[in-house]
Amino acid sequence: MLIAGLLPESFVDWRGKLVATIFTYGCNMRCPFCHNYALVIQRQDRFLNPEDVLRRIEELREWIDGVCITGGEPTIHPDLPLFIRELSKITKVKLDTNGTNPDILRDSLPYLSYVAMDIKAPPHRYSELSGVQVNMRKIEESISLIRNKARDYEFRTTAVPLLNQEDFEEIASWLSGAKRYVIQQYSTQNGTLNPEFRNLSPHPEPFLREICKKIAHHFGECILANL
Ligand code: SF4
Repeated sequence: MLIAGLLPESFVDWRGKLVATIFTYGCNMRCPFCHNYALVIQRQDRFLNPEDVLRRIEELREWIDGVCITGGEPTIHPDLPLFIRELSKITKVKLDTNGTNPDILRDSLPYLSYVAMDIKAPPHRYSELSGVQVNMRKIEESISLIRNKARDYEFRTTAVPLLNQEDFEEIASWLSGAKRYVIQQYSTQNGTLNPEFRNLSPHPEPFLREICKKIAHHFGECILANL
């Protein structure tokens, strides 16, 4: 595990919970709108020791509701399931993932209380919005695993201004029947991996509300976040 950082207190990484957030290093996607790009493209030589991180979480245990593991993309690290297993002995664990590694996800699921999987775009635009050639078979496999085996979960899409209403409707039909779908407002506050994306204006809030209303019947619930 390459762990780049630990934030002892976060209110934004697991809806409704106070968590400690663990940031893993590296990602196999290059989403042009990525705002965690320091963990994706900037070289880093010093990492936290996983044993030390576990000890720190143990110290924080009584103050937090759980831990969120995010990145980067946590599932590129083969020892992730073991790390999650150890963490789950201390507190509840949520995993953020882009869904490209269903095997690692499968091994992690028994120890996870919550999974949030990014859905970058409808299938025909996936590679465009993730900046790499994506194996859609693996994405489909992760979606199916989460729908059928996760204790609790959400699928979520960042409302990149390049995505239009038809794209959201296509995503909704694709994921139809899922428990929870979250549309996250686009933000350039921390910069973006592709500097050109810093100049894009987010979709207006009423437009996102309208989309959410239109596609809500596909899901147990449809939520707007980061507005
Ligand atoms: S937004 Fe894309 S590039 Fe950035 S960490 Fe997530 S999957 Fe990787």
